[in-house]
Amino acid sequence: MSDRDSFDPLSWSKRDGSSPVLPEMWKNVAGRQEAGEPEAGGLPRVWWLLAGCIALVAILGSLWFWLPRSPQNSAPLPEQVQIAPLPDGATAPPQTGLPIYSSRRVRLAGPKDLLGYLREAGLPADEIAEANKVAMSVLGNAKGETSAVLNLVAAGGTVRLERLEASLPDGSGAILARGDDGAFSVSRVAAELSKRIKVVRGELDSDSFYSSAVSAGVIDSLIPEFVNAFGFDFNLAAEVAPGDTFEVAYEQTVNAAGQPQGEPQLLFASLVTAAKSRSLYRFKPVDQDTGWFDGNGGSTVRSFMRTPVDGARITSKFGMRFHPVLHYTRLHAGVDFGVPVGTPVYAAADGMVIGSTPTSCGGNMAVLQHDNGWVTRYFHLSHFAPGLHNGQRVTQGYTIGLSGTTGTCTTGPHLHYEVRIDGEPVDPLGIQTDSGRKGLEGAARAAFIQQRDRVDVARARNAE
Ligand SMILES: [Zn+2]
Repeated sequence: MSDRDSFDPLSWSKRDGSSPVLPEMWKNVAGRQEAGEPEAGGLPRVWWLLAGCIALVAILGSLWFWLPRSPQNSAPLPEQVQIAPLPDGATAPPQTGLPIYSSRRVRLAGPKDLLGYLREAGLPADEIAEANKVAMSVLGNAKGETSAVLNLVAAGGTVRLERLEASLPDGSGAILARGDDGAFSVSRVAAELSKRIKVVRGELDSDSFYSSAVSAGVIDSLIPEFVNAFGFDFNLAAEVAPGDTFEVAYEQTVNAAGQPQGEPQLLFASLVTAAKSRSLYRFKPVDQDTGWFDGNGGSTVRSFMRTPVDGARITSKFGMRFHPVLHYTRLHAGVDFGVPVGTPVYAAADGMVIGSTPTSCGGNMAVLQHDNGWVTRYFHLSHFAPGLHNGQRVTQGYTIGLSGTTGTCTTGPHLHYEVRIDGEPVDPLGIQTDSGRKGLEGAARAAFIQQRDRVDVARARNAE
């Protein structure tokens, strides 16, 4: 005898053979337990009647619970079951005490899972087949997470489907409704997507730019791009301090229910420090790369890096000098940045690889031709980036190789960096970094102004 049995009042009465005189509070329990067991021979007739009545109540009661829930007590539904109000035009349920309508909502991996869900709902097979066929006539080959709502009705001891709504993430979908003739009619729901601009403002904390942005509510996937925007105007490791403020605006496509669809797009970033402030708009002109522009469409960033390596200190400037290895005075045609061997060397601007070759004096040399005609050259590299080849398109910041100390004209690890305009070397530290790429003109500028104004309206609304 198990412990569990010892809590069964019926087993107590059976054990001693006498008529059970159960306390009031046990009766319902006893009735339910007895209802499913046909053999209880030793019990008096009056107990049978009592048990029968209680069993009937139990069956009705369980039907009550059974209807709005999973009919086979199968796997729990992902979302909570709700009792829906009566559909428009429906008559009130008859006065049997039974709940008539129930509404169930679930998320499915795709429209194809609808069939399984209809089966799970315990509908008659012919109804499942018909409903699925009608739904598929509209949903067809659509894919994507599908939200489904089933409105069920209990009638004559069976469950029937009254209404089915299936919607895809973009808001498109199908609505099935049972007509007076008992057949399903279906209507198609069109996609409904819209774009919203969201504005987030925040203040730098003492930890990091990243943590400040995240705690202000900036989606973290946007932060690298945000940091990039200021790569020319701020040294984010040294020139910002707690209390400096930033603002981000991004665009998100949402469906009719307001749920995000696709990736958010950064449109605006501003940073205000005690020393300076920058407000930049991100824009993609037709047939050009996305860029950052000032409010007038002038290119402010993503032109040329002054320093194509991180953490560099200048060990030799541009100009005439007595060469330490060659031992005569000549033009030092670039800038030397002292960096450890193996430091990533970045493409100073978008451009094309036109050389990656060993030279005797300068060691491994990479050469890039940029869109404005300028050429940048990078010397003494220990490695070229794997697969680097002539004609390869690189974007600004792409690691073209690793710094080193190759070649005969070097006394230690450094990057020798050159900028040439029309073939003439110029001082990389003297160039205007915003002169490398022209501002927007004509139709591109008009489109930019339109986007800028949308962003500014959203920013103004957010500031209210
Ligand atoms: Zn040099």
